Amino acid sequence: MAAPLFYPPSYAAAREHFREQVAALRRRWPQAAWQQRPLDPPAQEALEWIAAPATHEARQAVVLTAGLHGIEGYVGSLMLDLFLQEFADRLDPATTSLYLAPALNPWGMAHGRRVNAANVDLNRNFVDLAPGQPFPRVDNPAYDALHAFLNPAGPVRGRDRWLFWPRALLALRRAGGAAALRSASLQGQSAYPQGIFYAGQALQPETRAVQAWWDTLLRQYPRILHLEMHTGYGPAGVLSLFFPEAEPRRDAEWESLLDYRPVIRVASAAAYRIQGDLGGYLLRRAAWHGREVVTTGLEFGTLGHSTAAQLRSLRALVLENQMFHHGAASDAVAAWVRREFRALFAPADPAWRARALAQARRAIQGLLTWFLAGA
Ligand SMILES: [Zn+2]
Repeated sequence: MAAPLFYPPSYAAAREHFREQVAALRRRWPQAAWQQRPLDPPAQEALEWIAAPATHEARQAVVLTAGLHGIEGYVGSLMLDLFLQEFADRLDPATTSLYLAPALNPWGMAHGRRVNAANVDLNRNFVDLAPGQPFPRVDNPAYDALHAFLNPAGPVRGRDRWLFWPRALLALRRAGGAAALRSASLQGQSAYPQGIFYAGQALQPETRAVQAWWDTLLRQYPRILHLEMHTGYGPAGVLSLFFPEAEPRRDAEWESLLDYRPVIRVASAAAYRIQGDLGGYLLRRAAWHGREVVTTGLEFGTLGHSTAAQLRSLRALVLENQMFHHGAASDAVAAWVRREFRALFAPADPAWRARALAQARRAIQGLLTWFLAGA
């Protein structure tokens, strides 16, 4: 009977768990090692990953990453463990390398936040910069108009839980509907460093570390399959596969190739258009290196996709961010804000997790079968 899959109680426990997996991997990949790249400037946490390089001719690599959005690294760790326990044996160690990074944003995972220590949403921060080139600004006038609603000042009070709804109705009217409100916030912004969906005004230390790591991978491997774990977006309890806007195959084609649905385009009408996403960046770097990279986000939906559920998700984001910067009026309010934030990004419900795992098995099965058939 296989051991139960690992759901980390903390960032430190996740780190410990994955370090311990290296010994088992060495039975098939003798060079397997725990590697790290310190952040610059130095921080308490570093970018760390399992590297299991192919033993003979390294033709391809499978790369799994999680925790680009900090707190999403908890469910992400569960999925990386699923891959290690149930799928890694399908890779041929002679030709195929395996990499797993459980926390691309280690500070965020350690502190239960989605952003890094500078409040930056790292999935808006992956831009291509020539040396000396200024970091591009996200001009988002629709966000500006909603700034006071999205980023309230002062400590979170108990009544903010209820007052959010009339405020949201006013914001919906001002934005011109739910879709406009969603895209105004999700597109990100450069103007409010303490605001939600802040894209940053420079490449972040975590971004630069991930970029440097990926440049070494792209130099080594002609083909890479990359799975990036996310939580919170999409229909409740549904695993959606997200492909970057520049991915050449159409969503319906992927659904039939992988025998899995739903597949969603980051830029499709059903989703939202963003810049600085990791997947889009990797496709541009792959083209520059002349490599074949397929990168997909496994997005595990939690609260749901209805307008009411999306507003509840937005409330969780707004109040958690407000609390981080301005505090809460009481411990009880703080606990409620934390609970609601976890319900959105790291649900405790065992039934939700079982359903997420069942869908992840089918999606990974489809992705891996497709990738390995092309070797
Ligand atoms: Zn995410």
